[in-house]
Amino acid sequence: MIDVTLESVSKRFARGGDVAAVDDVDLTIAAGEFFTLLGPSGCGKTTTLRMVAGFYFPTSGHIRFGGEDVTRRPPNKRDTGMVFQNYALFPHMSVAQNVAYGLKIRKVGRAESARRVDEALAQVHLGGYGTRRIDELSGGQQQRVALARALVIRPRTLLLDEPLSNLDAKLREETRAEIRRIQRDAGLTSIYVTHDQAEAMAMSDRIAVMESGRVRQVGSPQEIYHRPATTFVARFIGRSNVLSLPVLGATDTTVDVGLPGGGRATAKAPEGHGLTENDTALVSIRPEHVALARPGDKDTLPGQVTDVEFTGMSTNLTLDVAGTTVNVSAIDVPATVAVGDRLEVRLPADRMWVVRP
Ligand code: ADP
Ligand code: MG
Repeated sequence: MIDVTLESVSKRFARGGDVAAVDDVDLTIAAGEFFTLLGPSGCGKTTTLRMVAGFYFPTSGHIRFGGEDVTRRPPNKRDTGMVFQNYALFPHMSVAQNVAYGLKIRKVGRAESARRVDEALAQVHLGGYGTRRIDELSGGQQQRVALARALVIRPRTLLLDEPLSNLDAKLREETRAEIRRIQRDAGLTSIYVTHDQAEAMAMSDRIAVMESGRVRQVGSPQEIYHRPATTFVARFIGRSNVLSLPVLGATDTTVDVGLPGGGRATAKAPEGHGLTENDTALVSIRPEHVALARPGDKDTLPGQVTDVEFTGMSTNLTLDVAGTTVNVSAIDVPATVAVGDRLEVRLPADRMWVVRP
C-alpha cells in the first residue's frame, strides 16, 4: 500500500482558451484509502485522475507515489490500474484477452498470464467467462471485466473514472458495494471520480469536492455533509438550505443570527469566520433538521407551503418563510398537507452551520 500526494498541481490546456482545467490542487490520499473526487461536470475530476495515471502531465506541481516523484513518468511505469467511464474494452476480443492486455504489454509469460487472468476474473465474480466475447456481456458484466483488467496487473493504486455511470440505478447500487469489497480485500489505495454525491457519500473514506478546477473542501462524508465549507459544497451535497441571515453578535465559534419572521438563534461557525454585527451570515441547515413545530415550541417560523413531494420514506416540503425559501424533509408530514397551507417550522440551532460564500 502506498499514499499518493498532489502538490500544487495545475493543468492548462492550450486548446480552449488556456484556462486552468485543474488549478493548484493539493491532496494527500492515505495508503489503503478510498478517496473520491466529487464535483459537477467540467470541474476537473477526469483531468486530475489522468495526471495521477500519467495520461496527462501537469503544467506545474508534483505527484508522488509513496514519496517517489512520478510527475513525468508514463502510465505503464506507474503500476496504476485504471477503469474508464466507457470501459474502453476491445469488443471483438474475448474477456480473457481483454483482461490479459496489461500483462501482454508488460511481457508477462503465457502460463503466468493465464493464471493471473483467472485470478482477476474470480475476484470480480466472473470466473468461467474468459472465452466469452465482450459484446455478448451485459453492461454490468462489462464493467467487471474493466475492473478485472485494472486489477490483473496488481496495481499499487486503483483509479476509477465514473465507472458506474452506464449502469441502471439498481445495478449501480449493487456494484458500488462490490467495488468497495474488492478495494478493501486488496487494500488498494483508490481514487474514485464521480459527479454523484450519494455515490460519493456511500463509498468513500474521504471526499474532495471540486469546483472550477479547485478543491473546495476535503473531509469525511460526515464532515462534508454536516460542516460544508462553502455555499457551493452545501448545495452540491444533498438537498440543503443556505439562508442569508443578519448577524446580531458573534464569538470565535458561534454566530447569533436573526431568523426570518423574527426570533434569533445561535449558529455554529468555523473558527476564523470573521463575521461581526451587521454582517450577513450564510447559514446552512439540512432539510431533515428543519422540524415541523409542535404546540408549545418557541421561536417558530410561520411559512406557506409552495411545493409538496412525497418520496415514500419522507415528504419534501418547500416553504415560503417571510420571503425566504426553506426546504423541509420530514417523516411526520400529515398526508393532508397541500400547496397553499400555512405551517410553523423550527430551525434547531445546533444544526445551523455558518458557511463561506
Ligand atoms: P470533469 O471530469 O470534472 O467533467 P474534465 O477534467 O474532463 O472535467 O474537464 C475539466 C475542464 O478541462 C473542462 O472545461 C474541459 O472542457 C477541459 N478539458 C478537459 N480535457 C481537455 C483537453 N484534452 N483539451 C482541452 N480542454 C480540456
Ligand atoms: Mg470526467
